[in-house]
Amino acid sequence: MTIILYQDKFLPREQGQVDMEDRGYQFGDGIYEAIRVYGGKMFLLDLHMKRLERSARELRLKLPYSLEHLTDNLNQLIRQNQINEGLVYFQITRGAAHRQHLFPDHIESVLTGSAVSLPREETLRPNGIKVSLVDDIRWLRCDIKTLNLLGNVLARQEAHEKGSEEAILHRGATVTEGSSCNVFIVQNGQLVTHPADHFILNGITRLHVIDLAGKLNIPVEERTFSTDELYHADEVFITSTGAEVKPVVQIDERVIASGKPGSITQKLMNAFDEEVARIKAAALY
Ligand code: PMP
Repeated sequence: MTIILYQDKFLPREQGQVDMEDRGYQFGDGIYEAIRVYGGKMFLLDLHMKRLERSARELRLKLPYSLEHLTDNLNQLIRQNQINEGLVYFQITRGAAHRQHLFPDHIESVLTGSAVSLPREETLRPNGIKVSLVDDIRWLRCDIKTLNLLGNVLARQEAHEKGSEEAILHRGATVTEGSSCNVFIVQNGQLVTHPADHFILNGITRLHVIDLAGKLNIPVEERTFSTDELYHADEVFITSTGAEVKPVVQIDERVIASGKPGSITQKLMNAFDEEVARIKAAALY
């Protein structure tokens, strides 16, 4: 039986209900996090919780529980669903009230969460993927992890209909990020990725890969890059909680470099693999 988290309660999935006037439902007025689970443990938990706090602050949304309490409940959710390799998703909306744009008085935030199994083998694409370039039509606060993902959804659907696994978004000539990932290019042995400003979500995997690159002595430049630079990059890869490090070998009809994952991307994928293997080994004891 699938167990979900509703506020402070653990319920069978079928019993999970939200109010039809929940502002998450009416306005997308809420925030979320998705955290990878390896060896039954949440990966990079602190960074996710920091980002959650920041998203809440930016939207002036009150977190219903302390981060410690929330963490305990998420761990319990993982255990109750017997998740070893998976994904925890939770969201917090501003709450339910008669529909009005203004923040209602005396409203209580609503938390819902789930934990599902997601074996790594199902998500890794060692040979790389094809993506499509899609216009970034989103608002100007993409740095906040809000439930309002329609711009992302439309972009992903457009890419899918073009036979691609992901949409890479651009504002004019500037590449921003993917519909649900960050984008890196490799130029002359150096990683280049969009700076963490209001135009992108500062991905936890993005931060982790920048950290890994430092350990591997791979230089990283956080600056904007153009669609032209993307097409002519030595390597391209995307990062996200679900995708980890995924090579991109084709953008629409254009093949990137040799059409195979590049050596730097490979190094980062290997470093990621080793890290997950260590976590899983430690979880056995
Ligand atoms: N950008 C967007 C728009 C996303 O939705 C995501 C995934 N939630 C990311 C980047 C990657 O973030 P993370 O590495 O934290 O999963």
